[in-house]
Amino acid sequence: MTTYDPQNIFAKILRGEIPNDTVYEDDHVLAFRDISPQAPVHILVIPRGAYISIDDFGANASAAEIKGFYEAVSKIVAQEGLTKNGFRCIANTGSDGGQEVPHFHQHILGGAPVGPMVVKKG
Ligand code: AMP
Repeated sequence: MTTYDPQNIFAKILRGEIPNDTVYEDDHVLAFRDISPQAPVHILVIPRGAYISIDDFGANASAAEIKGFYEAVSKIVAQEGLTKNGFRCIANTGSDGGQEVPHFHQHILGGAPVGPMVVKKG
């Protein structure tokens, strides 16, 4: 398994080395607006712990971290007014999943219809 790279951009954001547009934070997570939004609301939720991907997080995070993460997602979607019309959560993973930043992050997209889940190729 690949080891966690502490120089990835989200690790730098967690250390306060790079600014971010925070929408929510607590002991377990930091959530901030995506720098290149793909929907009217586009937020990234990241755990404070050093996890590369959603499968790394699910396999190795503590129960408190996992519970805290998804409780935060629920708080954020309510805070952003997304519960009425819905939203989409995406966790791109690895090269086939198109993951660019190797620190687990869940995208929350909403504020308007998000479109088809996947654009089929070929
Ligand atoms: P992924 O392709 O799932 O790894 O998504 C990475 C996301 O991080 C992309 O949507 C980028 O626009 C976003 N991103 C990269 N750098 C920053 C940053 N400094 N602040 C906020 N979002 C960022």
